[in-house]
Amino acid sequence: MPLRETGPVSTPVGIHVRRAACDATDAHDVSHYLRPGTLCLPALPPLALYVHFPWCVRKCPYCDFNSHEPPGGSAAVPEARYLQALRADLEAALPLVWGRPIISVFIGGGTPSLLSARGLDELLSFVRALLPLQPDCEITLEANPGAFEAEKFAAYRASGVNRLSIGVQSLQADRLAALGRIHDPAQARAAIDVARRHFDNFNCDLMYALPGQTLDAAQREVEELLALAGPHLSLYQLTIEPNTVFAKYPPQLPDEDTAAAIHDWIEARMARAGYRHYEVSAYARPGFESRHNLNYWTFGDYLGIGPGAHSKISFPQRILRQTRLRQPASYLEQAEAGRFVAESVEVARVDLGFEFMLNALRLADGFAPQLFCDRTGLPLSQIRVGLEQAEARGLIERSPYRIAPTELGRRFLSDLQALFLPGGGTG
Ligand code: SF4
Repeated sequence: MPLRETGPVSTPVGIHVRRAACDATDAHDVSHYLRPGTLCLPALPPLALYVHFPWCVRKCPYCDFNSHEPPGGSAAVPEARYLQALRADLEAALPLVWGRPIISVFIGGGTPSLLSARGLDELLSFVRALLPLQPDCEITLEANPGAFEAEKFAAYRASGVNRLSIGVQSLQADRLAALGRIHDPAQARAAIDVARRHFDNFNCDLMYALPGQTLDAAQREVEELLALAGPHLSLYQLTIEPNTVFAKYPPQLPDEDTAAAIHDWIEARMARAGYRHYEVSAYARPGFESRHNLNYWTFGDYLGIGPGAHSKISFPQRILRQTRLRQPASYLEQAEAGRFVAESVEVARVDLGFEFMLNALRLADGFAPQLFCDRTGLPLSQIRVGLEQAEARGLIERSPYRIAPTELGRRFLSDLQALFLPGGGTG
């Protein structure tokens, strides 16, 4: 997902992955997934939970997430029905993850901070009752400064949320207006202030290379955010995504040189401020890296519940991907019949190397070669050709202990990832 912190990593534009359709008639029939398969995983990876809240006060023109304005306005979010459906969704999925501890929970959207304090408490209560959360489980909630009330956030904290991710996006009134955001700079600053009072761990999302933005203007925004921010920042370049209002009516974006100059300046400035650039868009003070997102990037497992949520669940001899029904109205309707899953597919053995590399190459530190074998159940020789070509082009560095993208590899990440496509890497 390109524009803020959350969610599993999507495939770069232009890269298509085959997936073997799964012939399971019952998406949660675990015996179907335990039969002999083509992989041999030495152990199951860590497991995280993602909960999707699909509504926003207003749809932003650049946004391609599964977020919708509720018919009847934000006051008309069907909270009770949604929570009931989510609980049933989670209960139905339990056989796929029996007994596995949960390392992190991420409540994303949409705008989950539209949930009432009581609604959020109910959600975390049934999650705790149904799943074994690790004692130090990271529990993140995404929050929009336009839906941010101090009292509610104190209650969220008391219910167990221990990390916030705030969609600041900009601290300039004209840029926030150009992005169609519902908040103004004063609300963004107030939200950060509330976060600071109740949470020692929080993230701020900020976008750059915005319509009309110069290097100088971007520098001023980052400086201002640095003076306010907490231990984690996600800094994203605005990109125009298909099927958005911006794709139909494209704004005038800064040219490539300006965008690159902003990116380079940000990288140097964040390093001076003590934040490590540990992933494409993520900067953290030591020890405050997002555990939930690190799990995606190290090809861990995640169970996603709620409209349109994605799951990746490993079994000893196969890896399953599922997608929930996308439209909130059909998700709620079908929930009554106990139907939540739109698609269940098994990742084809031939695609696993690429899927792993798509994620792991986003990390500045790369990965230990053994992790590839542990997560995919395949030998490293499966990606030998891609590794050799990437190394020859100066896109990765490797030793017996680590494989990591070089600076050049990070800059041309999509090209690097494409070398690991099945049948790719032909030079
Ligand atoms: S608030 Fe976030 S999720 Fe909602 S429409 Fe805007 S960018 Fe999309």
